Amino acid sequence: MLTGKIIIVTAPSGSGKTTLVHKLLAACPRLTFSISACTRSPRDGEIDGKDYHFLSTEKFEELIKEDAFVEWEMVYPGKYYGTLKSEVQRIWDENRSPLLDIDVQGAISVQKKYPDNSLSIFIQAPSLEVLQQRLEKRGTETPESLKERVEKARYEMSFSHEFNHIVINDDLETASATLNDIVLNYLEG
Ligand code: 5GP
Repeated sequence: MLTGKIIIVTAPSGSGKTTLVHKLLAACPRLTFSISACTRSPRDGEIDGKDYHFLSTEKFEELIKEDAFVEWEMVYPGKYYGTLKSEVQRIWDENRSPLLDIDVQGAISVQKKYPDNSLSIFIQAPSLEVLQQRLEKRGTETPESLKERVEKARYEMSFSHEFNHIVINDDLETASATLNDIVLNYLEG
């Protein structure tokens, strides 16, 4: 069984993490996006098996019982998200490093599990106001889920110091260059 390095990128929703993660993947050919399992419905344009493995709650709970996850969290009420052991192993077996784009609590768990071979980066929005504006602009939230996400972001920001690096996403190009440098240095080291 091969093991390797794990890159964890975490952030409150709306901090611009997804864009940064796409830019990082493009800049770093040794990284492979780790496709999480989740029980929320696919958004327009999302593809099962590419963006997520979209599972029923029953199936997800079955996998929890089988100990199939590196970590899992109920990220939003009733909505499970988790990193499958099989996914991480598949990427290691290809001699590549998985990039985990996961929530703050999940990121803390993975870090604890792999203290010697993980690198964690917390992406921070400049402020909660900016974060709310970004979520509104994205247009994927109902007023209720928007409120839920902003409240969660407020809480998650208090954990930023738990991670190896904090990158403030004020200017996208600057944040992207900083993130790419941190990860490339770690993978080369
Ligand atoms: P979204 O519903 O916007 O795709 O994701 C919501 C949150 O769930 C994001 O913060 C995302 O990073 C997180 N997430 C995605 N996959 C996982 C996972 O496998 N485990 C955990 N703990 N969080 C995840």
